[in-house]
Amino acid sequence: MPLYAYRCTDCLDFEVSAAMGEAAASLPCPACGIPSPRRFTAPNLSRAASSAYRLIESTKRSAAEPAVVSSPGPAPRTAGGNITTNPLHRKLPRPD
Ligand SMILES: [Zn+2]
Repeated sequence: MPLYAYRCTDCLDFEVSAAMGEAAASLPCPACGIPSPRRFTAPNLSRAASSAYRLIESTKRSAAEPAVVSSPGPAPRTAGGNITTNPLHRKLPRPD
């Protein structure tokens, strides 16, 4: 459920979780009870699913302290590793 922000004139802002479109235009402040109007804020959309955000997060995490790996990565492809296993490729002309 989204969070809706309200601003009390005497206290700090407070947030209330309510169903989408069910937020009241004004709620009593939980501290003093004064009716507080709803404050309109920018939508706090989640960016956690995007690959760009994950890259930024992983870069930030490893900026001060590089990630320690327990083993080297997969072996790089060598020239001999490019041999095809498709039987149709045996019929292709070969260099002399
Ligand atoms: Zn208040």
